[in-house]
Amino acid sequence: MISTVSQTASAATSKQLTTRPTYARINWANLRSNYQIAKAQAPGAAYAVIKANGYGHGIVACARALGEADGFAVACVDEAMALRQAGIKRPVVVLQGAYCSKEWQLASDNDLQLVVQHPQQLQQRAELVLPNPVAVWLKINSGMNRVGVRADEAQALIDLIDADEQLQLRLVMTHFADADQGSDAALADAIQVMQSQSWPVPLSVSNSAATLTGLASVLETSDSVSRPGILLYGSSPLLNQSAAELGLKTVMTLTSQVIHIHTIKAGEKVGYGGDWTAEKDGRIAVVAIGYGDGYPRQAPNGTPVMINGHRCALAGRVSMDMITVDISAHDDIQIGDAVELWGEQIDVDDIAARCNTIAYELFCQLTPRVKRIAAEG
Ligand SMILES: *Cc1c(COP(=O)(O)O)cnc(C)c1O
Repeated sequence: MISTVSQTASAATSKQLTTRPTYARINWANLRSNYQIAKAQAPGAAYAVIKANGYGHGIVACARALGEADGFAVACVDEAMALRQAGIKRPVVVLQGAYCSKEWQLASDNDLQLVVQHPQQLQQRAELVLPNPVAVWLKINSGMNRVGVRADEAQALIDLIDADEQLQLRLVMTHFADADQGSDAALADAIQVMQSQSWPVPLSVSNSAATLTGLASVLETSDSVSRPGILLYGSSPLLNQSAAELGLKTVMTLTSQVIHIHTIKAGEKVGYGGDWTAEKDGRIAVVAIGYGDGYPRQAPNGTPVMINGHRCALAGRVSMDMITVDISAHDDIQIGDAVELWGEQIDVDDIAARCNTIAYELFCQLTPRVKRIAAEG
Protein backbone atom coordinates (compact mmCIF):
# COMPACT_ATOMS: atom_id res chain seq x y z
CA MET A 1 0.00 0.00 0.00
CA ILE A 2 1.42 3.34 -0.98
CA SER A 3 0.45 6.36 1.08
CA THR A 4 -0.18 9.61 -0.74
CA VAL A 5 1.48 12.85 0.23
CA SER A 6 -0.76 15.50 1.71
CA GLN A 7 -2.71 17.51 -0.80
CA THR A 8 -5.03 20.45 -0.86
CA ALA A 9 -8.52 19.72 0.43
CA SER A 10 -9.96 18.91 -2.97
CA ALA A 11 -7.26 16.46 -4.02
CA ALA A 12 -6.17 13.08 -2.79
CA THR A 13 -5.84 12.44 0.92
CA SER A 14 -3.98 9.68 2.70
CA LYS A 15 -7.30 7.92 3.28
CA GLN A 16 -7.97 7.57 -0.44
CA LEU A 17 -7.65 4.08 -1.89
CA THR A 18 -4.48 3.83 -3.90
CA THR A 19 -4.95 0.68 -5.92
CA ARG A 20 -4.98 2.32 -9.38
CA PRO A 21 -1.43 2.09 -10.71
CA THR A 22 -1.28 5.63 -12.10
CA TYR A 23 0.94 7.96 -10.11
CA ALA A 24 2.99 11.10 -10.24
CA ARG A 25 6.06 10.21 -8.22
CA ILE A 26 7.56 13.35 -6.76
CA ASN A 27 11.23 13.50 -5.85
CA TRP A 28 11.32 16.12 -3.10
CA ALA A 29 15.13 16.03 -2.76
CA ASN A 30 15.37 17.06 -6.41
CA LEU A 31 12.90 19.90 -5.83
CA ARG A 32 15.19 21.15 -3.07
CA SER A 33 18.24 20.72 -5.29
CA ASN A 34 16.61 22.82 -8.03
CA TYR A 35 15.70 25.49 -5.47
CA GLN A 36 19.35 25.61 -4.45
CA ILE A 37 20.29 26.32 -8.08
CA ALA A 38 17.84 29.23 -8.14
CA LYS A 39 19.12 30.46 -4.81
CA ALA A 40 22.75 30.29 -5.90
CA GLN A 41 22.00 32.33 -9.05
CA ALA A 42 20.03 35.03 -7.26
CA PRO A 43 21.86 38.00 -5.75
CA GLY A 44 19.19 38.25 -3.04
CA ALA A 45 16.37 36.12 -1.70
CA ALA A 46 14.46 33.56 -3.76
CA TYR A 47 10.73 33.03 -3.21
CA ALA A 48 9.67 29.65 -4.57
CA VAL A 49 6.63 30.03 -6.86
CA ILE A 50 4.13 27.34 -5.88
CA LYS A 51 0.92 28.76 -7.39
CA ALA A 52 -1.60 26.51 -9.18
CA ASN A 53 -1.20 23.70 -6.65
CA GLY A 54 2.58 23.88 -6.86
CA TYR A 55 2.48 23.61 -10.68
CA GLY A 56 0.43 20.46 -10.13
CA HIS A 57 2.84 18.91 -7.62
CA GLY A 58 0.77 19.79 -4.51
CA ILE A 59 1.02 23.26 -2.99
CA VAL A 60 1.27 22.28 0.68
CA ALA A 61 3.56 19.35 -0.05
CA CYS A 62 5.87 21.66 -2.02
CA ALA A 63 5.90 24.23 0.78
CA ARG A 64 6.73 21.53 3.31
CA ALA A 65 9.49 20.10 1.12
CA LEU A 66 10.93 23.60 0.67
CA GLY A 67 10.66 24.43 4.35
CA GLU A 68 13.91 26.41 4.27
CA ALA A 69 12.95 28.57 1.27
CA ASP A 70 13.23 32.33 1.76
CA GLY A 71 9.52 32.57 1.02
CA PHE A 72 6.76 31.46 -1.32
CA ALA A 73 4.81 33.12 -4.13
CA VAL A 74 1.24 32.14 -4.97
CA ALA A 75 -1.32 33.60 -7.37
CA CYS A 76 -4.20 34.38 -5.05
CA VAL A 77 -5.19 34.77 -1.40
CA ASP A 78 -7.03 31.42 -1.49
CA GLU A 79 -3.74 29.68 -2.21
CA ALA A 80 -1.93 31.68 0.46
CA MET A 81 -4.60 30.74 3.00
CA ALA A 82 -4.20 27.05 2.13
CA LEU A 83 -0.55 27.44 3.15
CA ARG A 84 -1.33 29.29 6.37
CA GLN A 85 -4.05 26.77 7.29
CA ALA A 86 -1.50 23.98 6.81
CA GLY A 87 0.74 25.71 9.33
CA ILE A 88 3.26 27.13 6.84
CA LYS A 89 4.78 30.20 8.51
CA ARG A 90 7.31 31.35 5.89
CA PRO A 91 6.79 34.67 4.06
CA VAL A 92 4.15 34.44 1.33
CA VAL A 93 3.51 36.95 -1.46
CA VAL A 94 0.25 36.95 -3.43
CA LEU A 95 1.14 37.74 -7.04
CA GLN A 96 -2.27 39.05 -8.11
CA GLY A 97 -2.86 40.84 -4.83
CA ALA A 98 -6.30 41.34 -3.31
CA TYR A 99 -9.46 40.87 -5.36
CA CYS A 100 -11.63 42.63 -2.73
CA SER A 101 -11.39 44.39 0.64
CA LYS A 102 -11.99 41.11 2.49
CA GLU A 103 -8.69 39.84 1.09
CA TRP A 104 -6.85 42.84 2.54
CA GLN A 105 -8.27 41.78 5.88
CA LEU A 106 -7.08 38.19 5.38
CA ALA A 107 -3.65 39.44 4.36
CA SER A 108 -3.43 41.59 7.45
CA ASP A 109 -4.61 38.78 9.74
CA ASN A 110 -2.28 36.19 8.22
CA ASP A 111 0.87 38.14 7.44
CA LEU A 112 0.53 37.86 3.64
CA GLN A 113 2.38 40.23 1.33
CA LEU A 114 0.21 41.58 -1.49
CA VAL A 115 1.14 42.77 -4.94
CA VAL A 116 -0.56 46.01 -5.96
CA GLN A 117 -1.03 46.12 -9.70
CA HIS A 118 -3.93 48.56 -10.02
CA PRO A 119 -4.96 51.70 -8.07
CA GLN A 120 -8.41 50.16 -7.45
CA GLN A 121 -6.79 47.66 -5.10
CA LEU A 122 -5.71 50.57 -2.91
CA GLN A 123 -9.27 51.94 -2.91
CA GLN A 124 -10.54 48.56 -1.71
CA ARG A 125 -7.87 48.58 0.96
CA ALA A 126 -9.11 51.98 2.18
CA GLU A 127 -12.58 50.52 2.84
CA LEU A 128 -11.44 49.04 6.13
CA VAL A 129 -9.12 49.48 9.07
CA LEU A 130 -6.51 46.76 9.15
CA PRO A 131 -5.34 45.22 12.42
CA ASN A 132 -1.72 44.89 11.21
CA PRO A 133 0.18 46.68 8.46
CA VAL A 134 0.45 44.85 5.13
CA ALA A 135 3.66 44.69 3.11
CA VAL A 136 3.03 45.41 -0.57
CA TRP A 137 4.94 44.94 -3.79
CA LEU A 138 4.12 47.46 -6.53
CA LYS A 139 3.86 45.88 -9.96
CA ILE A 140 5.20 47.70 -12.99
CA ASN A 141 4.13 46.89 -16.55
CA SER A 142 7.46 46.57 -18.35
CA GLY A 143 6.00 45.60 -21.72
CA MET A 144 3.89 42.48 -21.22
CA ASN A 145 0.82 44.76 -21.12
CA ARG A 146 -1.09 42.38 -18.92
CA VAL A 147 -1.10 43.78 -15.37
CA GLY A 148 0.83 46.47 -13.54
CA VAL A 149 1.13 50.22 -13.83
CA ARG A 150 3.39 52.05 -16.23
CA ALA A 151 6.74 53.08 -14.80
CA ASP A 152 5.99 56.77 -15.28
CA GLU A 153 2.68 56.40 -13.43
CA ALA A 154 4.19 54.54 -10.49
CA GLN A 155 5.12 57.53 -8.36
CA ALA A 156 1.48 58.44 -7.77
CA LEU A 157 0.86 54.97 -6.34
CA ILE A 158 4.05 55.04 -4.31
CA ASP A 159 2.84 58.32 -2.77
CA LEU A 160 -0.53 56.74 -1.94
CA ILE A 161 1.16 53.74 -0.34
CA ASP A 162 3.58 55.96 1.60
CA ALA A 163 0.69 58.06 2.89
CA ASP A 164 -1.11 54.97 4.20
CA GLU A 165 0.17 53.96 7.63
CA GLN A 166 -1.21 50.48 7.23
CA LEU A 167 0.81 49.77 4.11
CA GLN A 168 4.50 49.23 3.78
CA LEU A 169 6.11 49.33 0.33
CA ARG A 170 8.57 46.43 0.28
CA LEU A 171 9.53 45.91 -3.33
CA VAL A 172 8.86 47.19 -6.80
CA MET A 173 8.40 44.29 -9.18
CA THR A 174 7.86 43.40 -12.81
CA HIS A 175 7.32 40.22 -14.80
CA PHE A 176 9.09 39.86 -18.14
CA ALA A 177 7.29 38.84 -21.31
CA ASP A 178 10.52 37.72 -22.99
CA ALA A 179 13.02 36.31 -20.53
CA ASP A 180 13.30 32.91 -22.27
CA GLN A 181 15.77 34.18 -24.93
CA GLY A 182 12.95 34.38 -27.45
CA SER A 183 13.68 38.08 -27.88
CA ASP A 184 16.70 39.68 -26.24
CA ALA A 185 15.63 43.05 -27.68
CA ALA A 186 12.26 42.94 -25.92
CA LEU A 187 13.97 41.97 -22.66
CA ALA A 188 16.42 44.85 -23.08
CA ASP A 189 13.45 47.21 -23.55
CA ALA A 190 11.84 45.89 -20.37
CA ILE A 191 15.07 46.37 -18.43
CA GLN A 192 15.24 49.91 -19.73
CA VAL A 193 11.69 50.57 -18.52
CA MET A 194 12.74 49.47 -15.04
CA GLN A 195 15.83 51.70 -15.21
CA SER A 196 13.82 54.73 -16.27
CA GLN A 197 12.93 55.63 -12.67
CA SER A 198 14.81 55.66 -9.40
CA TRP A 199 12.93 53.38 -7.06
CA PRO A 200 12.67 53.88 -3.29
CA VAL A 201 12.86 50.13 -2.59
CA PRO A 202 14.68 47.11 -4.12
CA LEU A 203 13.38 45.32 -7.22
CA SER A 204 11.94 41.87 -7.78
CA VAL A 205 12.26 40.98 -11.45
CA SER A 206 13.55 37.47 -12.12
CA ASN A 207 11.40 34.49 -13.01
CA SER A 208 13.08 31.14 -13.79
CA ALA A 209 14.37 32.19 -17.20
CA ALA A 210 15.89 35.46 -15.97
CA THR A 211 17.33 33.67 -12.94
CA LEU A 212 19.14 31.17 -15.15
CA THR A 213 20.40 33.62 -17.79
CA GLY A 214 21.27 36.40 -15.38
CA LEU A 215 20.25 38.83 -18.13
CA ALA A 216 18.32 41.06 -15.72
CA SER A 217 20.85 41.00 -12.89
CA VAL A 218 21.73 44.64 -13.59
CA LEU A 219 18.44 45.44 -11.83
CA GLU A 220 19.09 43.31 -8.78
CA THR A 221 20.80 43.84 -5.43
CA SER A 222 21.28 41.72 -2.32
CA ASP A 223 17.86 43.00 -1.17
CA SER A 224 16.10 41.80 -4.31
CA VAL A 225 13.72 38.86 -4.35
CA SER A 226 13.69 36.47 -7.32
CA ARG A 227 10.64 34.38 -8.17
CA PRO A 228 11.69 31.03 -9.64
CA GLY A 229 8.83 28.75 -10.67
CA ILE A 230 9.17 26.19 -13.45
CA LEU A 231 12.87 25.54 -12.88
CA LEU A 232 12.05 24.20 -9.41
CA TYR A 233 10.04 21.44 -11.06
CA GLY A 234 12.89 20.40 -13.36
CA SER A 235 11.69 21.87 -16.64
CA SER A 236 13.81 24.23 -18.70
CA PRO A 237 12.37 27.72 -19.22
CA LEU A 238 14.95 28.45 -21.94
CA LEU A 239 14.35 27.75 -25.62
CA ASN A 240 17.90 26.65 -26.34
CA GLN A 241 18.94 24.67 -23.27
CA SER A 242 17.49 21.48 -21.79
CA ALA A 243 16.82 20.93 -18.11
CA ALA A 244 19.72 18.46 -17.93
CA GLU A 245 22.09 20.99 -19.53
CA LEU A 246 21.04 23.49 -16.87
CA GLY A 247 21.75 21.01 -14.08
CA LEU A 248 18.07 20.78 -13.16
CA LYS A 249 16.86 17.49 -11.76
CA THR A 250 13.62 15.69 -12.56
CA VAL A 251 11.00 16.17 -9.88
CA MET A 252 7.88 14.48 -11.28
CA THR A 253 7.82 11.07 -12.93
CA LEU A 254 4.38 10.23 -14.30
CA THR A 255 3.87 6.48 -14.33
CA SER A 256 1.19 3.94 -15.06
CA GLN A 257 0.90 0.29 -16.05
CA VAL A 258 0.17 -1.92 -19.02
CA ILE A 259 -3.36 -3.26 -18.43
CA HIS A 260 -4.04 -5.07 -21.70
CA ILE A 261 -2.07 -6.44 -24.65
CA HIS A 262 -3.40 -7.64 -27.97
CA THR A 263 -2.16 -8.48 -31.42
CA ILE A 264 -2.79 -6.30 -34.43
CA LYS A 265 -2.72 -7.22 -38.10
CA ALA A 266 -1.19 -5.15 -40.87
CA GLY A 267 -3.76 -2.63 -42.10
CA GLU A 268 -5.85 -2.58 -38.92
CA LYS A 269 -6.50 0.72 -37.17
CA VAL A 270 -6.29 1.64 -33.48
CA GLY A 271 -8.34 4.01 -31.32
CA TYR A 272 -10.98 6.70 -31.90
CA GLY A 273 -11.15 7.81 -35.48
CA GLY A 274 -8.75 5.04 -36.53
CA ASP A 275 -5.93 7.55 -36.48
CA TRP A 276 -3.14 4.96 -36.55
CA THR A 277 -2.78 2.05 -38.94
CA ALA A 278 -0.50 -0.94 -38.36
CA GLU A 279 2.05 -1.24 -41.15
CA LYS A 280 2.73 -4.86 -40.25
CA ASP A 281 1.51 -7.50 -37.83
CA GLY A 282 2.42 -6.60 -34.27
CA ARG A 283 1.28 -5.97 -30.70
CA ILE A 284 -0.49 -3.12 -28.97
CA ALA A 285 -0.25 -2.38 -25.23
CA VAL A 286 -3.01 -0.45 -23.47
CA VAL A 287 -1.90 1.77 -20.58
CA ALA A 288 -4.13 3.03 -17.75
CA ILE A 289 -3.78 6.76 -18.30
CA GLY A 290 -5.61 9.25 -20.49
CA TYR A 291 -6.72 12.83 -20.77
CA GLY A 292 -8.96 12.24 -17.74
CA ASP A 293 -5.68 12.12 -15.84
CA GLY A 294 -4.23 15.11 -17.66
CA TYR A 295 -2.15 13.18 -20.17
CA PRO A 296 -2.49 15.52 -23.16
CA ARG A 297 -5.02 14.51 -25.78
CA GLN A 298 -2.93 16.42 -28.34
CA ALA A 299 -0.07 13.89 -27.96
CA PRO A 300 0.40 12.69 -31.54
CA ASN A 301 1.19 9.21 -32.86
CA GLY A 302 4.86 8.52 -32.18
CA THR A 303 5.01 10.32 -28.82
CA PRO A 304 7.53 8.34 -26.72
CA VAL A 305 6.33 6.15 -23.87
CA MET A 306 8.82 4.16 -21.77
CA ILE A 307 7.81 0.56 -21.01
CA ASN A 308 10.17 -1.77 -19.22
CA GLY A 309 13.20 0.24 -20.34
CA HIS A 310 12.03 0.28 -23.99
CA ARG A 311 11.23 3.52 -25.73
CA CYS A 312 7.92 2.81 -27.49
CA ALA A 313 5.57 5.02 -29.48
CA LEU A 314 1.99 6.12 -28.93
CA ALA A 315 -0.27 4.49 -31.56
CA GLY A 316 -3.75 5.99 -31.88
CA ARG A 317 -5.56 8.83 -30.17
CA VAL A 318 -5.37 9.42 -26.44
CA SER A 319 -8.67 8.39 -24.79
CA MET A 320 -10.06 9.60 -21.47
CA ASP A 321 -8.76 6.66 -19.45
CA MET A 322 -6.36 4.83 -21.75
CA ILE A 323 -3.61 5.19 -24.30
CA THR A 324 -2.46 2.63 -26.85
CA VAL A 325 1.21 1.95 -27.57
CA ASP A 326 2.96 0.05 -30.36
CA ILE A 327 5.08 -2.64 -28.65
CA SER A 328 5.66 -4.76 -31.76
CA ALA A 329 9.45 -4.57 -31.37
CA HIS A 330 9.48 -5.79 -27.74
CA ASP A 331 8.32 -9.35 -27.05
CA ASP A 332 9.15 -9.14 -23.35
CA ILE A 333 6.54 -6.47 -22.54
CA GLN A 334 3.71 -7.94 -20.43
CA ILE A 335 0.55 -6.87 -18.66
CA GLY A 336 1.54 -5.24 -15.36
CA ASP A 337 4.74 -3.68 -16.70
CA ALA A 338 5.51 -0.18 -15.47
CA VAL A 339 5.12 2.68 -17.93
CA GLU A 340 6.73 6.12 -17.77
CA LEU A 341 4.92 8.95 -19.55
CA TRP A 342 7.45 11.61 -18.56
CA GLY A 343 10.06 12.07 -15.87
CA GLU A 344 13.41 10.42 -15.30
CA GLN A 345 13.65 8.71 -18.69
CA ILE A 346 11.47 10.91 -20.86
CA ASP A 347 12.01 14.67 -20.76
CA VAL A 348 8.73 16.40 -20.00
CA ASP A 349 9.85 19.30 -22.20
CA ASP A 350 10.09 16.88 -25.15
CA ILE A 351 6.52 15.68 -24.56
CA ALA A 352 5.34 19.28 -24.23
CA ALA A 353 7.01 20.30 -27.49
CA ARG A 354 5.35 17.40 -29.34
CA CYS A 355 2.00 18.59 -27.98
CA ASN A 356 2.61 22.24 -28.95
CA THR A 357 2.54 23.29 -25.33
CA ILE A 358 4.88 23.81 -22.38
CA ALA A 359 5.63 21.66 -19.35
CA TYR A 360 3.87 24.27 -17.19
CA GLU A 361 0.57 23.22 -18.76
CA LEU A 362 1.25 19.49 -18.63
CA PHE A 363 2.01 19.74 -14.91
CA CYS A 364 -0.95 22.00 -14.14
CA GLN A 365 -3.51 19.93 -16.00
CA LEU A 366 -2.81 16.70 -14.12
CA THR A 367 -6.14 15.85 -12.52
CA PRO A 368 -6.81 14.76 -8.92
CA ARG A 369 -7.24 11.18 -10.19
CA VAL A 370 -3.44 11.01 -10.46
CA LYS A 371 -2.08 10.31 -7.01
CA ARG A 372 1.02 12.25 -6.07
CA ILE A 373 3.37 10.02 -4.11
CA ALA A 374 6.79 10.63 -2.66
CA ALA A 375 9.59 9.01 -4.65
CA GLU A 376 11.95 9.06 -1.68
CA GLY A 377 11.74 8.05 1.95
C1 LIG B 1 4.31 32.43 -12.36
C2 LIG B 1 5.14 33.62 -12.08
C3 LIG B 1 6.52 33.50 -11.86
C4 LIG B 1 7.27 32.21 -12.09
O1 LIG B 1 7.51 32.05 -13.48
P1 LIG B 1 8.41 30.83 -14.01
O2 LIG B 1 8.50 31.07 -15.47
O3 LIG B 1 7.62 29.59 -13.70
O4 LIG B 1 9.68 30.89 -13.27
C5 LIG B 1 7.22 34.62 -11.48
N1 LIG B 1 6.60 35.82 -11.34
C6 LIG B 1 5.28 35.97 -11.56
C7 LIG B 1 4.65 37.32 -11.41
C8 LIG B 1 4.51 34.89 -11.95
O5 LIG B 1 3.19 35.05 -12.19
